[in-house]
Amino acid sequence: MEVIYKISEIKKIIKQKKSEAKTIGFVPTMGALHDGHLSLIKKSVDEADYTVISIFVNPIQFAIGEDYEKYPRDLKKDIKLAKSVGVDLLFAPDAFDILGDNLLTYVDINKLSDNLCGLNRQGHFRGVCTIVAKLFNIVEPNKAFFGKKDIQQLYIIKKMVQDLNFDIDIVPCPILREKDGLAMSSRNVYLSKDERHDALIIYKSINNAIEIINNGETSSEIVINKIKNMINLKKSAKIDYVKIVNENMEDIIKISKHNILALAVYIGKTRLIDNHIIGEKLCY
Ligand code: AMP
Repeated sequence: MEVIYKISEIKKIIKQKKSEAKTIGFVPTMGALHDGHLSLIKKSVDEADYTVISIFVNPIQFAIGEDYEKYPRDLKKDIKLAKSVGVDLLFAPDAFDILGDNLLTYVDINKLSDNLCGLNRQGHFRGVCTIVAKLFNIVEPNKAFFGKKDIQQLYIIKKMVQDLNFDIDIVPCPILREKDGLAMSSRNVYLSKDERHDALIIYKSINNAIEIINNGETSSEIVINKIKNMINLKKSAKIDYVKIVNENMEDIIKISKHNILALAVYIGKTRLIDNHIIGEKLCY
């Protein structure tokens, strides 16, 4: 596995791979790799000739006061993990190489970023789209793998690829969960033992919602209120949002298949997100 830090170097390698007609699979990440990331990488290794992953904690997707500074970083460990699952090239640029000191061009997306995480994380998706577009231009993948864990991001990237005519197949990948159901996240390391225990309420409330919906409830309001009541019983939990939306990220009134139940909840100071697509199987 090659570990590359400079855009100019990775571009040379990509050019070479393209000249050999190799298909390139790409998994963009912010590092602190866990099994969720590794599941995306394994899919890429399966489906593409040459797998590139990026590790870049993107400063412009964090708002002021968020956890950019303390976001977990462990490149040594990430290199080991990436090697173990067959990554061909790990790209770990520094912020200056990616952003320079005078970035004037941004990729912004309307409507899809107005709800859910876009509501309370101003500029978040603008930061995500700008960097993902840059990475796509650098890596020139045939396929890029994104987790359903960040469901709004997945829909946004799909639309960006369509709108900007990137010739890239966006491959959605299932949410990986811990044995007890908590969605894997690099941020789970922030949780104290008690908070880790309380965080399970997110998964439990999703399960409860699925049961209510399977029993015939179609009112989004009723389901959302049940979830909120459940989560509010935990002292350490503070709800950012609980919503049921359609594929355009619009709130819906009557629940139907393919709607997305999406939650963001602070457990202590840690903001966790999770979701479930109605009608799909919950998986681990
Ligand atoms: P991040 O490093 O958090 O930016 O995530 C990089 C990619 O991994 C994104 O496409 C995420 O959706 C995906 N990802 C993160 N956590 C999980 C998980 N638990 N299951 C599946 N994919 C995940």
